[in-house]
Amino acid sequence: MREDSDPTGCLITNARLLDPATGLDRIGELRVEQGIITGIGGFLAPPRGRYELIDAGGLCLAPGLVDMRAQFGEPGFEHKERLESGARAAAAGGVTSVALLPGTNPPVDDPAMLQFVARKARQLRSVKIYPYAALTRGLAGQQLAELGLLREAGAVAFTDGAKALADAQMMRRALAYATSIDALIVQHPEEPSLARGGVMNDGATSVRLGLAGIPRCAEVMMVERDLRLVEMTGARYHVAHVSTAAAIEAVRQAKARGLRVTAETTPHHLALNELEVEGYRTFAKVSPPLRSEVDRRAVVEGLRDGTIDVIASDHDPQDQDSKRQPFAQAASGVIGIETMLSVSLRLYHDGQMSLLGLLRKMTWAPAQLLGLNAGRLAVGAPADLVLFDPDAPWKISEAGLSSLAKNTAFEGRLVNGKVHRTLVDGRTIYRRDGI
Ligand SMILES: [Zn+2]
Repeated sequence: MREDSDPTGCLITNARLLDPATGLDRIGELRVEQGIITGIGGFLAPPRGRYELIDAGGLCLAPGLVDMRAQFGEPGFEHKERLESGARAAAAGGVTSVALLPGTNPPVDDPAMLQFVARKARQLRSVKIYPYAALTRGLAGQQLAELGLLREAGAVAFTDGAKALADAQMMRRALAYATSIDALIVQHPEEPSLARGGVMNDGATSVRLGLAGIPRCAEVMMVERDLRLVEMTGARYHVAHVSTAAAIEAVRQAKARGLRVTAETTPHHLALNELEVEGYRTFAKVSPPLRSEVDRRAVVEGLRDGTIDVIASDHDPQDQDSKRQPFAQAASGVIGIETMLSVSLRLYHDGQMSLLGLLRKMTWAPAQLLGLNAGRLAVGAPADLVLFDPDAPWKISEAGLSSLAKNTAFEGRLVNGKVHRTLVDGRTIYRRDGI
């Protein structure tokens, strides 16, 4: 039988219902019919028709995570990751919506390419995939892409992905145009000429290891420049994976001035610092680089005080040949979509953030930024759900991960928080044994 015959109805009982959009946190039940949430609370009538009864046994039931920054490698880099393997990793991590960066080959810079990726993703019948479109043609930073046409074709927002848009005039025009179509511009915040040649964070550790450093001010310089342009244009502007205390402070002040600026960080930037590079571990080579412990703490503080709105995986699969290189030559990037919940939960276990506050950064906040109908537990909302145990310990091992690529920065690490089940439109797309 086809999957279409799966029951799309279910009644989940005995769950800790967590809704970061409303602050709901109570034990109760949730009912799903035809892929839509039709009841939340206690003692609900069962769904009409054939349905599955799921006893959550007290586990947390939250909106499925919304990952606003990932790459799956297809088309063009299928040996690193495919849509199918990326979606499987997402599902195993409790992620139900993913915004995919346009850095494929060819890049997503025209409507046909955008629709191609969206169509292939839909055929998977797995996690929901929302393609970004390139800001500039070929991600080359020379000529603006057709933002209006791309928006109509379904681009969720615009970015040159792993590349900063360095040309100030071009960024000004992009921001001005984006304002007229109410689109979000996402920037990789790094002044490229200052970062050129650098392979890790600039500082005592890079000197000791004899590696060329990327100065932290390369980040704040680009953020401050862009903020001037945001001030001129009134655009909605999002700083991807902010990693330095200075840039976070710049965003904090811009928010206080009322600019429409938002920011995100990654699980590796909130959990790790530059010392991970010791031993020339290429699996700790990321862009932006892992920073000092002072910066890492600033990231955590930025999450706590609301300066940083979102946690996104920045899932960037790399094959063995790209990582088994001398540090300077190795590709940057780590996978992380499958481990983002468990790694981020560290802030909850350390008492630095509430469970709801943390989940909000991975559900409601990114959904709102991208305008997605996702990220909340509400009657009438799609039943995109994750059932997880926030306390269950496990050891991250590359062999146990679903990604085609194995470049995790967390190999061998103990974390707390296990996903038990992931549902999209009421359909189970991932299930761990047990519940
Ligand atoms: Zn980047």
